[in-house]
Amino acid sequence: MESTVKKDIRSLSKEDLRTFFEDQGDKAFRGDQVYTWLWQKSVYDFAEMTNLSKATRALLETHFIINNIAVETMQRSQDGTIKNAVRLHDGLVVESVLIPTSKRSTACVSSQVGCSLDCTFCATAKLKRMRNLNPDEIFDQVVTIDRQSKLYFNRPLSNIVFMGMGEPLMNYNAVVKAIDKITSPEALGMSPKRITISTSGVPKMIKKMADDGLKCQLAVSLHSAIEEIRNRIMPFSKSFPLEELKDSLAYWYEKTKSRITYEYVVWKGINDDTASIDALIRFCKHVPCKVNLIEYNPIGDGMFSQAPAAVTDAYIQALEKERIVVKVRRSRGKDIDAACGQLANKS
Ligand code: SAH
Repeated sequence: MESTVKKDIRSLSKEDLRTFFEDQGDKAFRGDQVYTWLWQKSVYDFAEMTNLSKATRALLETHFIINNIAVETMQRSQDGTIKNAVRLHDGLVVESVLIPTSKRSTACVSSQVGCSLDCTFCATAKLKRMRNLNPDEIFDQVVTIDRQSKLYFNRPLSNIVFMGMGEPLMNYNAVVKAIDKITSPEALGMSPKRITISTSGVPKMIKKMADDGLKCQLAVSLHSAIEEIRNRIMPFSKSFPLEELKDSLAYWYEKTKSRITYEYVVWKGINDDTASIDALIRFCKHVPCKVNLIEYNPIGDGMFSQAPAAVTDAYIQALEKERIVVKVRRSRGKDIDAACGQLANKS
């Protein structure tokens, strides 16, 4: 028998599916039915599309595959956090995390296998980038975590953060397509306001997000507002000077009127001095923002360590004095290596 390469059915738009059925001499609305199974019900097997005839299901089977993800291992932290090691259709693995609080269930999803960037304090950066995720692979992580949230916490997912593995703005098109599906009433129907894209800071792409009218929240991993220090701990940023980053953030705010979150870790001997605090304050005055001080999660190389609480307090006091909103974000899921910067496929 002639072998044909089957196409991933989820790379087809709704219109493509309608056309497919018309070309087969069937009704176009069959495409709508399949679309609902794929994107609203997240079915990974044609056999489960029970409102289609056997012949139609067989037809789909001969033409298409569904490249779904599969949870390979699930770990639960003492604090309730769940980390999934997720196997992709080609055998590669990414991680995604469900972070429950008293009111919210937040999904932390990956956008790349490994990462394009080279932040020296991050475990994922050590993996290098193997490939970008497809939109459906990002979408599947969200659906998986939504189901886990319903199962373990009796409520649907409330928020999504692109803070898993990878740099979302280096896989921009797929991230946007996934968000389209996540927010579409025909699929998950979540509000884009509950989705945060976290970037290490790629100015050109931040401007593009603004131009494209993305309604998500923007977080920037700043960690230092002093060029020389930032270049040292996030070497890729040599190509993106802070001035350029500032410009792009002003552009984003101008277009979206949406306040930016800066993520910031205070490390001993790196940014624990008053010059760093002053620089951060100056940076914050540029565009409406808030600062999240995140706890450092050691990645086992002993290169960085969290500054003492007194230094964090000094940051908080100085920022609050200038009326800049600052929050301290406690780490979650540390005991299972699910916290920020710890995702690295140890499993
Ligand atoms: N590439 C994106 C998203 C992934 S990282 C970004 O950089 O924003 C999510 C957050 O974890 C970022 O703010 C990142 O700087 C931070 N992070 C990385 N390694 C960390 C570590 N070891 N401890 C604490 N935060 C870390």
